Formats: sequence, C-alpha cells, structure tokens
Amino acid sequence: MEKKTKLVGLILVGILLVSILSGCEAALSSAGNSLSKAIPTQTSVPPTNTPLPTPTVTPLPSPLPEEEAGGREDMITITIVYDNYAYKAGLENAWGFSALVAYQDQLVLFDTGGSGTILLSNLAALDIDPAEIQKVVLSHEHSDHTGGLQALLAAGADPDIYVPPSFSTAFKNQLSARARLIECRPGTKIADRIYTTGEMPGPPPEQALVIDTTRGLVVITGCAHPGVDNMVLEAKRQYKEDIYLVVGGFHLGSASDARVSSIIKEFQRLGVKYVAPCHCTGDRAIGMFRNAFSEDFIRVGVGAVIAIED
Ligand SMILES: [Zn+2]
Ligand SMILES: [Zn+2]
Repeated sequence: MEKKTKLVGLILVGILLVSILSGCEAALSSAGNSLSKAIPTQTSVPPTNTPLPTPTVTPLPSPLPEEEAGGREDMITITIVYDNYAYKAGLENAWGFSALVAYQDQLVLFDTGGSGTILLSNLAALDIDPAEIQKVVLSHEHSDHTGGLQALLAAGADPDIYVPPSFSTAFKNQLSARARLIECRPGTKIADRIYTTGEMPGPPPEQALVIDTTRGLVVITGCAHPGVDNMVLEAKRQYKEDIYLVVGGFHLGSASDARVSSIIKEFQRLGVKYVAPCHCTGDRAIGMFRNAFSEDFIRVGVGAVIAIED
C-alpha cells in the first residue's frame, strides 16, 4: 500500500549545499587525545575508497538551508560526518564513523570518528558548529568511534553523552568529570523521536541508534559487532515498526558470502526498505547489498546526507 507515495520523495540522498571550506584548519589544531582504548584489528584496516555507482534517487525538492546543518522542520536528516569512504569533495575520509542526526532543533551526534582533528574539520566544512550539538551517543568503546570526543568537547560542545553501561570505568570517570554521562538501557530516549537499542552483547557490547520516523524505523549502527541482523531485529522487537533504513558499519569485512547473503535475507524478511552500508561493512559485502537492494541501496560516505521527509 502507498508504495508509490513511499517511493516518491521518500528518501533522498543529497549533498548539503554548504561548501564552506575556508578558514577551518587553524582552529582545529587543538584536537585532543583519544579517550578510548586502542583496537588493533580495526586501526590496521586501510581506508578503502572503491567507487560505487550512485543509485537513482529523487532529487531534493530544494536546497537545504545552510544554517540548519541539514534539516528542514519536516525532515529528519542523517549526515555522515566521518567515514572511511569518500563522498563529498572537501571532506576528509579516514577510518572510523560518525553521523549527525538533525530533527527540528535537535542535533544528535552518533559516534565521533577516530580523529578529533578530522571530525572538527569535517564539521566545519559542513558548517556545523560543535557547540550546537546537544547530545552525543557512543555506540561502543572502540577508538574509531570515540576518538573525536575530546576534541569535540574542547571545541565548545557541551552535550549530554550516552554510553553503553559496560564502557570501562576509566572512560566513564574521565568523561563524567567534564560532561553529563548517561548510561543507556534498552528504550532510553535520546531526543524527540530518537532512541537506542541499549547495549547488546559483542564483543564489544554495542548499541544502535533508532529513529522513529513516520515511514518506519531508521537504525544507525557504528560497527554492528553484535551482528547487524541482530541489531535490526532488536530495534524491531523493541519499537514494533517496520524498518525503513539501516545505515552505518555492518562489520562484514571478513564474513563469508553465505553469511552476508543470510543477513540480506533477514533484512528482507524484516522488511528493511533501504540500506546504506559504509565504514566497516567491507567492499564485497557492500557490493552484495547493492545487488540485492538495487535502487534501494544508498551509496554513502563522508558528507552524504540522507534526508527523510517526515
Ligand atoms: Zn568501527
Ligand atoms: Zn568497532
């Protein structure tokens, strides 16, 4: 039902028409140290940049206003601000992941990438003021997701920070000394329409962000160490709606084709409409998702904006 309406102008990949690329570097050199543990398996993976064909998408009805950093009142936007895949010129791609969710006057940053310098540089290039980020949600305690946090705080952000309860005491103590720290449970509300799955067993334990849109649930995963299929299933179990979009790292770089195929089948069974795999998904798995979802596959990388009309 309403398939046509859903297909027309429902999900839109656009590039924010902000090309403010000047004057950001000098301000960025103060990026701080990583708060988090090193993860040898991930930091050793070279960033990949395999070009993928851009899917056919409905063009944005009008350019998004620059000053809103990616959001009209009736839109929920997800801007990839840190990723190892390149997308928009003028932004730096590096191993890690971070996405900014904008809805009305809320700005929620999911993960912070690996390098504070790169995170701040990309935010500046997208004309996003760190001080306007009200909430930061960390998916799991790996440095390619937590590494930009200190620099963000040093740059004037004063967000509430949402973490899985299993984060190390050292990390939590260090953070709670300078920010409000909230340990997430299943169903924890981050902001209007924005929730978490709560932590799921990894290793390491990890939570996904869940956005409750009128078109269905959007699930954003950092690395999906608990299994991206399990995380999507958990989102559906908790929030009891169809899955509209899954975006982020699916962690399938070393998964067999059979495993990737079974995840694709599970996504289809769960009614996942769109997929936008990036970060640690792996080129081969991304290709399989692209083939399976065809025009419902969304190519993303750093600077990509997915806009969902609400
Ligand atoms: Zn990662
Ligand atoms: Zn990870």
